[in-house]
Amino acid sequence: MKVGILSFQGSFLDHSKSVSEIGFHPLLIKQSKDLDSIDALILPGGESTAMKKINDFSGLLGNVDEIIKDGTPTLTTCAGTILLAKEVIDGDETIPNIDIEVIRNAYGRQAESFEGSVKFFENEDIYCFIRAPKITKILSDEVNIIAEHNDDIVGTSQKNVVALTFHPELNNDDYYLNWLYDFIQEGKNVRSL
Ligand code: GLN
Repeated sequence: MKVGILSFQGSFLDHSKSVSEIGFHPLLIKQSKDLDSIDALILPGGESTAMKKINDFSGLLGNVDEIIKDGTPTLTTCAGTILLAKEVIDGDETIPNIDIEVIRNAYGRQAESFEGSVKFFENEDIYCFIRAPKITKILSDEVNIIAEHNDDIVGTSQKNVVALTFHPELNNDDYYLNWLYDFIQEGKNVRSL
């Protein structure tokens, strides 16, 4: 299985380690032709405004949008989630593929980044929030809440897309890696999530 990881900037190398850890092949995506043979896609955290600027030169996100809409299992973390959100407060809509509203930098500046307890599906663990967005509205019945931190929604799924605001790739705990393995392995059947 080949897993494409958007590699404009941000934590793409950490995601690539997670993918190798579960025995799949990570492919760093920098241009449209890199998308040709992938079975799953990850959009990492980083800085969404920088990613959008880099995209202005390559247009790659237009092709990323097509393969997401085609049903490719797609995981987004943090800035990646901002890129896919339907509505973005303090930012711009980029390639909307999940019916959520997010507020960028909702917990404050870099110094307010923190580790906190997250219920991710059936598991509870401590994960990092790095200048994270908040998911403030669910905009359709198709969206499921899959992760919570205190009273905040920090993970959602819709069809083939799982969008998180925290960084499980920095933990690589067994629960996350097992989940990631199953998610990728399901391929386009993942629509049944
Ligand atoms: N604050 C960043 C943004 O707005 C996201 C931070 C992250 O991805 N860890 O894009």
